[in-house]
Formats: sequence, C-alpha cells, structure tokens
Amino acid sequence: ALLINEDCTNCDVCLPECPNEAITDGSDVDKDIYFIHSDLCSECVGAFDEAQCVAVCPVECIVPDPDHEESPEELQAKYDAIHS
Ligand code: SF4
Ligand code: SF4
Repeated sequence: ALLINEDCTNCDVCLPECPNEAITDGSDVDKDIYFIHSDLCSECVGAFDEAQCVAVCPVECIVPDPDHEESPEELQAKYDAIHS
C-alpha cells in the first residue's frame, strides 16, 4: 500500500481517482491531511498500470508505506477481494 505524507496540501485531486475508494479527506481518522486506508490500497494493481493518485498529486506526497509492503500477487489478490 501507499501512504500520504505531511506534505499533503488537501487539494482533493487524488480522491476521485482511486479505483478502490481507499482515499479519504482524513476526517474519518482524525487527521487534517488526506489519508489512504492501507487495507483498500492495491497500489492500483488490478485496475491501472500506475498508481493513479501518485500520477495526479501535484506535490509528490504519496509514497510507499513501509509498514505495508506487498508483492504484485498480494496486491492483485487484495484488488480481487475488494471487488468480488
Ligand atoms: Fe487508490 Fe491506487 Fe492510490 Fe492506492 S495507489 S490509494 S489504489 S489510487
Ligand atoms: Fe494531498 Fe496529493 Fe491528494 Fe492533493 S493529490 S489531497 S496533495 S495526497
């Protein structure tokens, strides 16, 4: 999964791009910046060739989450489970 770091400017560009609805404005987790739910982030595996949120983020604040490193196969399985 990916995570959003403190450089986030709350621009909202990434949220509608996520195929798994993994991104929120942070209010649901008591954060004041945008947030990726790692259990829903397949790094866009299963839907796109590249991470859509990373592609649109103007400040490059979306990075790999070191606490949630997954193989392509694991990410595909996660995507399949979300959309089953
Ligand atoms: Fe959503 Fe893809 Fe970004 Fe993960 S990498 S949060 S699945 S848009
Ligand atoms: Fe934050 Fe980047 Fe998403 Fe904008 S596109 S809300 S700066 S993570």
